[in-house]
Amino acid sequence: MTMKQWSYDERGHQLSPSSWNNFASCPRKFWLSRQRLPRKAGMASAIGTAVHNSVEDLCNIDLSSRDGDEVGWLPPTANAILEKQWEQEKENFLNTARHPRWKQEEYPRARKLLIGSLNILFAKAHIEKMKLTEVTVDTWREVQRMVLAAEGTLRTSCGRLMGRLDLLVSDLDEDGQVVGWIVADLKTGKPPEGELYDTVSRQLRFYRDILCENNPDHPPVRAEGWYSNGSKVFEAEGPSVLPEAFEAWEASKITSTPMEAIPDQDACGFCEWKAWCPAWLWAQTQGLLKPTGIFRDMVATFEKIEIENGICLVERMAPVNEQGELASTGQRAGAVFAGQALSQLKVLVEQGYTGPVFLGGVRLDGETWKLGDWCDVLPWSPLLEGRTRKKAE
Ligand code: SF4
Repeated sequence: MTMKQWSYDERGHQLSPSSWNNFASCPRKFWLSRQRLPRKAGMASAIGTAVHNSVEDLCNIDLSSRDGDEVGWLPPTANAILEKQWEQEKENFLNTARHPRWKQEEYPRARKLLIGSLNILFAKAHIEKMKLTEVTVDTWREVQRMVLAAEGTLRTSCGRLMGRLDLLVSDLDEDGQVVGWIVADLKTGKPPEGELYDTVSRQLRFYRDILCENNPDHPPVRAEGWYSNGSKVFEAEGPSVLPEAFEAWEASKITSTPMEAIPDQDACGFCEWKAWCPAWLWAQTQGLLKPTGIFRDMVATFEKIEIENGICLVERMAPVNEQGELASTGQRAGAVFAGQALSQLKVLVEQGYTGPVFLGGVRLDGETWKLGDWCDVLPWSPLLEGRTRKKAE
């Protein structure tokens, strides 16, 4: 499924469903994501990758030397594969400069999600529900026969649109006859209560449409979201998204000046680039973005730091313009840093950094600000000009 490798000069930038979503929710978020800034690792995506890779490994496992009637092999094999993938993800996570605490206690959930994914594969192969201990090698071979590809890169012939496809499987009718293909994306998040979210439907159709375009003689193709949590399957239906995707590609050509920022509760909520984006802070000052809840993002300077115990005196800063220049507010508070927040603060102190600091996710449920594993502590560095274009890719 992997096609010709294109150089940046030949094709320009590449747009994937997730970067398209970023661009649609806030062009600045997309632009910042292309500036080679330090990325933030997240537990949810680490779990998702460990489960995805385990499913892929199980689909590709070589069983040629095994007895077809053998039972009891699947649970220990699946466990060993998941453990290996889990350790790999843990290493990647801890090697990412910005990372919260690794939650080892989430392992049972990852196991449950892997089992949920396997159950979807059994259902799609029309294999009756059975205990994993009772699955024979031959039964798993049936699943493997149904799987046409596990994990692949899909690209349009021009190389401009691309995405990672989880599974391509044969669409089987009740008699086991192949009636088409299913392009499936494994989802480890919460399944929707009603229909698929528009962004997910668009992502699934994006894979479907590239697959169809690259394979003119394709049989009927369905695009499905496979939610491991509860083993639920949702089909994405609708017209091709490729014309819209090419329009988005045109509009998202990387510029040297920052793209428009659209600060908004949803877009900014989990945006990992706030330390480099002055727009959310300015929007708050203007009353256009209203912070809610007890977790707040702040920019502050430090008046006193007791690094050994993480107790600090901070002053909240306010922007004086849209470029993120700051002025004092006179509002001082005590702040307690612990866990990852304290580790990040120690790095800044060791580097001799004394400027304003972005504090992401400060817990405000008393007079003292509380910062812990969940927080970001980064130099406040509004990015007002792009880094070189090729590097940004
Ligand atoms: S913080 Fe908000 S406005 Fe800034 S890039 Fe992120 S989503 Fe856009």
